[in-house]
Amino acid sequence: MKYLVVGSGLFGAVFAHEAAQKGHQVTVIEKRDHLAGNIYTEEIDGIQVHKYGAHIFHTSNKKVWDYVNQFAEFNRYTNSPVANYKGHMYNLPFNMNTFSEMWGVRTPQEAMNKINEQRKEMEGKKPQNLEEQAISLIGRDIYEKLIKGYTEKQWGRKATDLPPFIIKRLPVRLTYDNNYFNDDYQGIPKGGYTQIVEKMLDNPNITVKLNTDFFDKKDEYLKSFDKIVYTGPVDQLFDYKLGRLEYRSLRFETEEKNIDNYQGNAVINYTEADIPYTRIIEHKHFEFGKGDKDKTIITREYPAEWKPGDEPYYPVNDDKNNELYAKYKELADKEDKVIFGGRLGQYKYYNMDQVTAVALDTVDKEFGE
Ligand code: FAD
Ligand code: UDP
Repeated sequence: MKYLVVGSGLFGAVFAHEAAQKGHQVTVIEKRDHLAGNIYTEEIDGIQVHKYGAHIFHTSNKKVWDYVNQFAEFNRYTNSPVANYKGHMYNLPFNMNTFSEMWGVRTPQEAMNKINEQRKEMEGKKPQNLEEQAISLIGRDIYEKLIKGYTEKQWGRKATDLPPFIIKRLPVRLTYDNNYFNDDYQGIPKGGYTQIVEKMLDNPNITVKLNTDFFDKKDEYLKSFDKIVYTGPVDQLFDYKLGRLEYRSLRFETEEKNIDNYQGNAVINYTEADIPYTRIIEHKHFEFGKGDKDKTIITREYPAEWKPGDEPYYPVNDDKNNELYAKYKELADKEDKVIFGGRLGQYKYYNMDQVTAVALDTVDKEFGE
């Protein structure tokens, strides 16, 4: 079979790799001038720069963990972001360190008493939006200082207009444990993420074409390939005929500083509303300070309203957009020549491990287990 994979992100790369291993001919087209989609990293001064924001691989899915470990060796990096709220530093995720910094409590019981008192206002109510979900999870103090400003900047919407599930991603713990994730496995590939995609696509059955947009020759591609694996925005494939799905975009501002250590951590979140960026990442800390000792590279991440032509980084999975996506999904299910995959093709807030898992499931469905 002749497959065309549209997009060289993780979904496209996993699918292309597996199809090629099974002897199929695969052409991968990518509209950007580099491989790897949003997991792209580039080495500058010996530092792996995460060009599209901090990427930490974490999963509890052993199959996925073993799978990605074929393509890179992972280090022991554990994500432990710190929040800066008006100059006060708080550990994340919400754990005993945060509670102790916020309220001066010392034991889990003291913290629990404080949280229970703080979330009384939500007693007996089912959270209907992100604000209510956050208050019922952790109370108003933490909501006001560490969640509200960050969330409203990130999504460009009031927390009362956002779905509760977004905040459920974050752990809440009564231990002094700053690990941002609860997963069994976590790390950063030594030498960056790009090599993972390069290795996946390094197969004589795979041809890669960069700077190539599917929509420049859509009809020709549809005619000349047996099947298309499409990882771009689902609404674009249908010419937006049911209306446009909404996305959130980002702007990255990267700066080189002639010092060894700028902020002492890979990720610092700025949780107040008045600071326009959400976080600063200092790339060398993902690899424990590896790289030039006189230099460091930092990136400020500014959330941005998405408009046609911008990179669509996050699907906005609120009710309105999910309903529209459901209609596009009906159309997508009827397309027997096109497989829709990934964060944009399936309009889901997938992490890397989830994208890998759904790509492997898609491979199983396509070729049989
Ligand atoms: P993408 O990486 O978006 O790949 C799609 C590719 O298709 C792109 O390269 C695009 O250029 C190309 N394309 C689109 N349209 C066309 C077209 N018409 N023609 C040709 N090519 C096209 N996940 C984690 O697990 N941990 C993290 O810490 C983490 N942090 C993140 C931080 C940020 C700021 C963002 C935005 C995401 C983060 N993620 C993280 C999620 C992770 O980036 C995604 O799960 C993963 O990259 C999705 O892979 P994908 O292949 O679906 O999409
Ligand atoms: N969040 C927050 N304060 C923080 C970090 C996260 O309120 O300091 C909220 C915010 O709404 C964000 C969500 O939690 O969109 C999920 O955070 P995560 O770090 O998982 O977001 P991502 O890395 O996917 O952007």
